[in-house]
Amino acid sequence: MEKLYDVIIIGSGPSGYTAAIYAARANLSVLMFQGYQVGGQLMLTSEVENYPGFEDGILGPPMMEKFEAQARRFGTEMIPEDVSAIDFSKRPFKITTDSGDYYARTIIISTGASAKWLGLPSEARLQGRGVTACATCDGFFFKNKDVAVIGGGDTAMEEAIFLTRYVSHVTVIHRRDSLRASKIMQDRAFKNPKISFIWDTDVIEVLGDDAMTGLRLRNIKTGEESVLPVQGLFLAIGHKPNTDLFKGAIDMDRAGYIVPVEHTMTNIPGVFAAGDVTDHRYRQAVTAAGDGCRAAIDLERWLESQGEDIGVENWN
Ligand code: NAP
Repeated sequence: MEKLYDVIIIGSGPSGYTAAIYAARANLSVLMFQGYQVGGQLMLTSEVENYPGFEDGILGPPMMEKFEAQARRFGTEMIPEDVSAIDFSKRPFKITTDSGDYYARTIIISTGASAKWLGLPSEARLQGRGVTACATCDGFFFKNKDVAVIGGGDTAMEEAIFLTRYVSHVTVIHRRDSLRASKIMQDRAFKNPKISFIWDTDVIEVLGDDAMTGLRLRNIKTGEESVLPVQGLFLAIGHKPNTDLFKGAIDMDRAGYIVPVEHTMTNIPGVFAAGDVTDHRYRQAVTAAGDGCRAAIDLERWLESQGEDIGVENWN
């Protein structure tokens, strides 16, 4: 016999856990599918210094353990599995995972976003052996080495500047001849003596057998190829929202971010979205957590407006 929950939360980042804390404290029955990679992007982050309440900073993974423990304290059930299918056609919604089918009166989508990769086979082969998408996590391992950052946005500038704490030199490789980053970040990067730029250039291959030794580059305007000897490659070419599962059912923008239609509720009544899956602008732990709170409050009021009984029930 399958169970029916008041809310099933998909995703275990700051928005999902905050939604769980609020919903469970409001006496709703809450099940969270945490995903096989529990904890979201903060599990790939080192020091978090800008989340209020942690005046000395905290590492990403223990921070997420605290979020999880707080959500459990109020009775949230958690399963560390990915959701493979959802039937949005009728309520209660049916959610399928490797372990079976689960039913929910409402759903909160908080699946976040993931870093984008170039998609080169050599990039995949050397991931974790020189190639990474997180300077804050891995910069420390590149002490006194030469590294490259790809991208022309704020993240690329931030990562390049951060890396100069450790490395000998950072080369920023950008596919155009001007940056997308904000003026202040550009100025900081241009002024930093440890950072130089290669313009109008694509990375076409990551070189190295067991460890990275360099990059093969191609100038987009001249077609000329060259080799840059670097031991690290940091990708900073943006993020992709984790919304493939919801395509065709939930309204999204062109980049695939969910566009809620009424506060945090999506185009499907009873389905809510929170955190980076809806937000390409702020993308902060604290804004995602705030969003999870909003989604839980919206959902609670929506359930009340439907006049339905709440609590865990057996279903089918
Ligand atoms: P972004 O602004 O989308 O920039 C991505 C960069 O990667 C662009 O320069 C883009 O080139 C390049 N790029 C994309 N795909 C590529 C590919 N396949 N090959 C090579 N280059 C590629 O992403 P972001 O820098 O992560 O920033 C996202 C948002 O967060 C922005 O709104 C940003 O302002 C904000 N943010 C703010 C801060 C801060 O204020 N401190 C820090 C980080 C992020 P093109 O320019 O040619 O498109």
